[in-house]
Amino acid sequence: MNTELSDIEKVARQLEPGEKSRQELITKIVGYINEFLTSLPEMPAYQQGIPERILNLEVGEKGKSLDSLLSVLEKELETIGINAASGRHLGYIPGGGIWTAALADFIAASTNRYAGVAYASPPAVAIENKMIQWMSELVGYPDTAHGNLSSGGSVSNQIAIQAARDARNIGAANVRQSTIYFTPQVHHCVHKAFHTTGLHEAVHRQIPMTDEYRMDTDALAEQLKRDTEEGLVPVMVIATAGTTDTGAIDPLDRIADLCQQYEAWFHVDAAYGGFFMLSGQLAPRFRGIERSDSLVMDPHKTLFLPYGSGVVLVRDRRHLFASNQRKAAYMKDTYGIEDISPADTGPELSKHFRGLRMWLPLHYHGLEPFRANLTEKHLLCLHFRERMQEHGFEVGPVPDLSVTIFRLKDDPENKKTQALVDSLHEKGTYFFSSTLINGVLWIRCAIASFRTHQKEVEEAVSLIVECSTPVRKAPAT
Ligand SMILES: *Cc1c(COP(=O)(O)O)cnc(C)c1O
Repeated sequence: MNTELSDIEKVARQLEPGEKSRQELITKIVGYINEFLTSLPEMPAYQQGIPERILNLEVGEKGKSLDSLLSVLEKELETIGINAASGRHLGYIPGGGIWTAALADFIAASTNRYAGVAYASPPAVAIENKMIQWMSELVGYPDTAHGNLSSGGSVSNQIAIQAARDARNIGAANVRQSTIYFTPQVHHCVHKAFHTTGLHEAVHRQIPMTDEYRMDTDALAEQLKRDTEEGLVPVMVIATAGTTDTGAIDPLDRIADLCQQYEAWFHVDAAYGGFFMLSGQLAPRFRGIERSDSLVMDPHKTLFLPYGSGVVLVRDRRHLFASNQRKAAYMKDTYGIEDISPADTGPELSKHFRGLRMWLPLHYHGLEPFRANLTEKHLLCLHFRERMQEHGFEVGPVPDLSVTIFRLKDDPENKKTQALVDSLHEKGTYFFSSTLINGVLWIRCAIASFRTHQKEVEEAVSLIVECSTPVRKAPAT
């Protein structure tokens, strides 16, 4: 036996802890997570700070104890910045991260099945494809549809926009006549996707919005007419079903009519809003989404999964294949399998087995609690808005979903509202984000965490009132 090799092997084997070590490690991790989840309801949603321990900790030749590493995480990762797991996180689009999805991730990473091509793991790919099929049915797509489980809304929008580009044969020769329509409320990742796909060179039309921040479809119709008369080619309309700023749903059915008339690709960004279709009360608001050519939704938002889960669905799966299916000699053994491979429907080849973190919670909990959470979030949002109105705040339109906006009255220069934002951020018990719409500063309240319930909403209202009292009393400077 080669002694040099056995010496090296001894060190190499440190990457494989034995069963006893595994048991010790997992006990510590479970203890750590349980403590985190138990104290979570009382933790602040936002805290400023510098992660000094993390910045000063260097990777060394020898390993460190798990205790010392968990202590770094406990002191810094859990305390500094936005606590995205908290039900007090009401900024941006929170999701929370249900714990059973984390368990699925643990299984996925431990077994490390390769979910890129069906040949490598027919069960892993079947799990992913079943989830895609379930969502296709949820939105009312025909069985020609398929999709891709991506890392989030940004990548999903990119995949959809690329499919649209290829389906409409847009390239150097015609990109400058190709015209794309959306409102000023379109998510900025769509502009990033235009850049990735070369469609930043196309003609972009910002369609005005109604007072409810929905696309003004009369204006869209006029613009389409004018553009075609001038020789431009409408290639795509991008609607948003649940905008980031106010949660507004564009009039999908009417937009579908116009897309049909002008033979334009109809894409719906429902990254935040899509899963509200699980709520029987809210599903009718999405009428027309089933007529779209492609759509995006984010399980890491309103299906409450941890970050890193997006979905794109394309009505005619052939368009996804046209954009993403490429062959290579070294992949030859994997061909000839019936089931659709994720590698053929998106840009990734090797990928995290994302399907499991969706599959396990959906099967384990059943759909009921998901539906209840979504209806609850909408009702909480309506309630929050009413309470803000009672307290004399200026509020935005009645929310379509679970995002609403408010600001201080008599604040033409946004100063009082900005002071309230600063005060809320300094306090940090609850986290709110702010936005500018047509130059007007609004504070957003986005209720989308499965951990946000009546108690949190009442406390949030009290906190806002408390933080705004000095601001409201202070004379304008
Ligand atoms: C969150 C969001 C996105 C971006 O999704 P990520 O998952 O953050 O990449 C796109 N569009 C809308 C409407 C969103 O709410």
